[in-house]
Amino acid sequence: MRKRLIIIAIISIIAITFSSCSKAEKANETLTSTKEEVEESAVSVQESVMVEKIAEEPAVIEEEEPMGAAKLLYQGHASIRIVTAEGKVIYVDPFIGDGYDLPADLILLTHGHYDHTQTDMIKTKNADCETITWKEAIKDGQHQTFEYDFVKVEAVEAGYNKNHSVNDCVGYILTFSNGVTLYLSGDTSTTKDMESMAERNLDYAFFCCDGIYNMDMAEAIECAKLVGAKHNIPYHMIPANNGNGFDQAVAETFDVPGKMIVAQGEEIELN
Ligand SMILES: [Zn+2]
Repeated sequence: MRKRLIIIAIISIIAITFSSCSKAEKANETLTSTKEEVEESAVSVQESVMVEKIAEEPAVIEEEEPMGAAKLLYQGHASIRIVTAEGKVIYVDPFIGDGYDLPADLILLTHGHYDHTQTDMIKTKNADCETITWKEAIKDGQHQTFEYDFVKVEAVEAGYNKNHSVNDCVGYILTFSNGVTLYLSGDTSTTKDMESMAERNLDYAFFCCDGIYNMDMAEAIECAKLVGAKHNIPYHMIPANNGNGFDQAVAETFDVPGKMIVAQGEEIELN
């Protein structure tokens, strides 16, 4: 009898232990799942806050992107390539240097001399590429303006020396979509137009200054002062038959306010 009681007592103890163990496990499980639920609901609260935030965010007012700057590559002599902010490619007076691989959208020629008209150097042209020469640029004695959606081209006077007649030579003022202006003198001596250019506060101006076919350096300096652009750059500084399109020593003597020297093959941003 006593033995039986002891066995029953032992069985009961084992049963109680097991049951309390499983209770504890259950409690643990419950705790864990509650914790998960809390975490989950925290995430969903966070998500809903974010959704609300996004919904509450005031509509972003699209500010107009300021137009980028055109890039000007000085190829040497009077040869210039410009890539506008819109990616349009303009060549002026192709003759020397590198960088003729981009398809042309616009070709500008200032006059008919060989050192300004080597259009065959331009490898490809886009389908709607236009070429403006001194012939289109002067109609009935009037200098013409050409409007494109990537540049405005104004023909201005050039010439006034024994090699260059004002009737069949032009310079150009280009205005880009960011408002920046660029004057290219073409082959010339002092023109009547130059004085009136001063009031336009031009940004960049290139002046020829070779002193053999065109005005010399001293006159080019006077012209630059007359025009009064912010940046003044010498070009066409040595005769074309020299074979080089640039001479640093000559360029250095272009002593003007806002003097800027752009070497052959150098690219600048027009801003
Ligand atoms: Zn020339």
